[in-house]
Amino acid sequence: MNLFNLSGKTAIVTGGNGGIGLGIAEGLANAGANLVIAARNEEKTNQVVSQLKAKGFHCISVSCDVLDLAQIDNTVVKTLKAYGGIDILVNNAGISGGGPAEDIDESVWDQVIDINLKAVMRFSQAVHPHMKAAGGGKIINIGSMYSIFGSALVSPYSASKGGVIQLTRSLAVSWAQHNIQVNAILPGWIATDMTAPVIDNKMFYDQIVARTPAGRFGEIDEMAGAGVFLASPASQFVTGISLPVDGGYGVF
Ligand code: NDP
Repeated sequence: MNLFNLSGKTAIVTGGNGGIGLGIAEGLANAGANLVIAARNEEKTNQVVSQLKAKGFHCISVSCDVLDLAQIDNTVVKTLKAYGGIDILVNNAGISGGGPAEDIDESVWDQVIDINLKAVMRFSQAVHPHMKAAGGGKIINIGSMYSIFGSALVSPYSASKGGVIQLTRSLAVSWAQHNIQVNAILPGWIATDMTAPVIDNKMFYDQIVARTPAGRFGEIDEMAGAGVFLASPASQFVTGISLPVDGGYGVF
């Protein structure tokens, strides 16, 4: 048995049209999975899906804003129609957001918490009956180093990502009886659109690189290994963990 074989499995990756989501999606596809890329920007998603198909992967796009429960349900329906099941959910869609803690507007707080945390719960609830009926499944949530560390700059983001760790544990405990493993990945600093402004800020960039034992930012394809492990039979008895993929940032 190949412990990392995902042939015949189907994975939904929210926000999989770029960045970390795309890195994980390609890893899953390379291991044999069918992909559903679910994000808001249809043009960007369709372009990425064409590129993935050109590489020989099975892949569809679904327009989905994870803030909207009807769009989450629609993504589930389209996935079932295309592939007949849902084996893997990667709750990757996320935004940053903040400012000085004393000035955080309620609308910013709500948007960050709703996309980064509430949608993780709602999407997981939407796939749960299908995974349960199929005899099991894998849910992978994307946290952050800010799941662990505080931040003076992005307190709503830190709060949302801290919540992702606890939600991961609670869903793992709830659904272990249904053979659904729920785990999180905690990326360190990875070069994506989200971190582009940080990379452009030389002082901030240099601080982060000096603070990271690996001495650099990570690349999106370096997220694939953890994704495949947590999506595959290799992690069958692993549930509720939050796995750092951070070049040592979290232990320094
Ligand atoms: P990107 O900005 O490159 O990707 C974020 C993705 O989320 C986009 O594809 C976007 O697609 C999607 N998205 C945002 N809001 C929504 C929404 N409401 N509904 C559906 N999709 C949405 O950032 P990253 O790749 O860096 O981030 C991916 C995840 O990794 C996030 O959860 C982030 O917090 C986390 N992370 C990133 C780190 C890093 O260093 N880069 C470090 C730690 C965690 P679209 O706009 O088309 O909807």
